[in-house]
Amino acid sequence: MTLISEPTGSQGRHAADPAPGDLTDLAGGLTGRLVTSADADWDAHRMPWNVVVDQQPAAIVVAAGADDVVTTVRYAAAHGLAVAAQPGGHGASRASDGTILLRTGALDDIWIDADARVARVGAGVKWGALQAALDGTGLSGLVGSNPDVTVVGLCLGGGIGWLGRAFGRGSDAVRSFEVVDAEGQHRWVTDASDPDLMWALRGGGGDLAVVTAVELDLFPVPELAAATLAFPGDAAASVLRAFAAVTRTAPRELTLWANLMHLPDAPFVPEPMRGQSFAMVTACFLGDADALDALVAPLREAGPVLRDEVRAITPGQLGMIAEEPVDPTPAVMAGTLLHTLDDAAVDALLAQIGVGTGTVLAGGSIRHLGGALAERRSSAVAGPIAEPYSFAAMGIVPVPELAGVVDAQLDAVVAALGPWSTGRSVLTFLDRGESMARCYDGPLLARLRAVKAAVDPDGVVRSNRPIPQA
Ligand SMILES: Cc1cc2nc3c(=O)[nH]c(=O)nc-3n(C[C@H](O)[C@H](O)[C@H](O)COP(=O)(O)OP(=O)(O)OC[C@H]3O[C@@H](n4cnc5c(N)ncnc54)[C@H](O)[C@@H]3O)c2cc1C
Repeated sequence: MTLISEPTGSQGRHAADPAPGDLTDLAGGLTGRLVTSADADWDAHRMPWNVVVDQQPAAIVVAAGADDVVTTVRYAAAHGLAVAAQPGGHGASRASDGTILLRTGALDDIWIDADARVARVGAGVKWGALQAALDGTGLSGLVGSNPDVTVVGLCLGGGIGWLGRAFGRGSDAVRSFEVVDAEGQHRWVTDASDPDLMWALRGGGGDLAVVTAVELDLFPVPELAAATLAFPGDAAASVLRAFAAVTRTAPRELTLWANLMHLPDAPFVPEPMRGQSFAMVTACFLGDADALDALVAPLREAGPVLRDEVRAITPGQLGMIAEEPVDPTPAVMAGTLLHTLDDAAVDALLAQIGVGTGTVLAGGSIRHLGGALAERRSSAVAGPIAEPYSFAAMGIVPVPELAGVVDAQLDAVVAALGPWSTGRSVLTFLDRGESMARCYDGPLLARLRAVKAAVDPDGVVRSNRPIPQA
């Protein structure tokens, strides 16, 4: 990649739908590949990780490197088109319809300076790859729950991960972005060179420039431990109450997430778990396994413990604690931030998605926030999160006919938590076409619009969650 070792620092556009022949000039300028609807593998290329989203881009560029990104953005700017970067499609939305979809997977360079506690990674690098490269260094990035998500995608959205309570949001760790701006200029952006753009990129998503690389802080993790405690689903009420109690006094080195899971009665689920429900608490601790064992001990009183694992882990294993799927999945989510998690909130939640409710949802999860996540750590639109918990429910939509009932149940569970919710969310947790307005208040949105108008007045760059119009 050309610039990776040299850091320095609107929606208004009509989405045209060019016939494949109109893009010949673009194809000729690429080292990588242009894929159009005339190609036999068009459907395979346009399918995102979240296969529920039937996105309809105008064309797809599979970039071979940053030069292809420059070529694509300049082409789009010159031809009245928009470009939407999408490395994998974990956050896919229909906002990319009519754009040139840019696959950045080949931008996979990883450069680490352990002494300076800094990494620079290309836009296609997934957290699993960066974290694996950090094994043995005693350092970690602010990885989320899934190793298949890209570093750039999470950081642009603010990002909340296992080490957030200790070190802050993913966007806080960003020192600089290497971007191709809406004019097709390839350059590094820093707080010193472009303070407003950096503020907006730290949490404003991919609506401002196409990022080709990011430089980010690494954090000392001399010891790391993880825990997984699983209980039968009908113990969920006592498990969630115990979870809430432990989080109330948890040090910021400890992060606990609680999950209620309903596994389908399907052949791909191992026999003993098929059709069963479980309440689980997973934990990450910046310290040794014995200390973590003592911290989670009160949880064991909550019910029969079906699985009880407390173990030392490496940075490369952080993204695997949650054991989330990495293969493409037809998932839909809905969530909210909670100001309180008391017994009544637990009861309201379980009345919707608990065992015996007949829910079709796959489950729900509550993450403990707070600590450094509640503090301002950088100049970022993705600022501190005052709420101590996030909640997300998830449904699987294996066939389109199920979409309606899953949607209705997702709405119902979020509504049921209304009395304990602020109604806010974080950008990386939005789904189902939700607006960024759920994350940022009026003045923040106004400043984001002003930055967008300054850096991309013609709307050449398009995000999955665009900055909303006034
Ligand atoms: C299973 C799963 C687990 C998750 N866990 C967490 C978690 O623990 N914490 C958390 O905060 N989020 C989490 N997320 C949400 C995830 O961080 C966001 O969806 C993120 O945007 C995904 O980035 P991606 O690049 O992998 O996906 P994509 O869908 O490919 O990209 C998402 C968006 O990021 C922007 N973007 C990506 N690359 C570029 C680029 N090079 N230039 C400009 N814009 C770009 C674009 O707007 C793009 O639409 C999870 C999502 C899933 C599906």
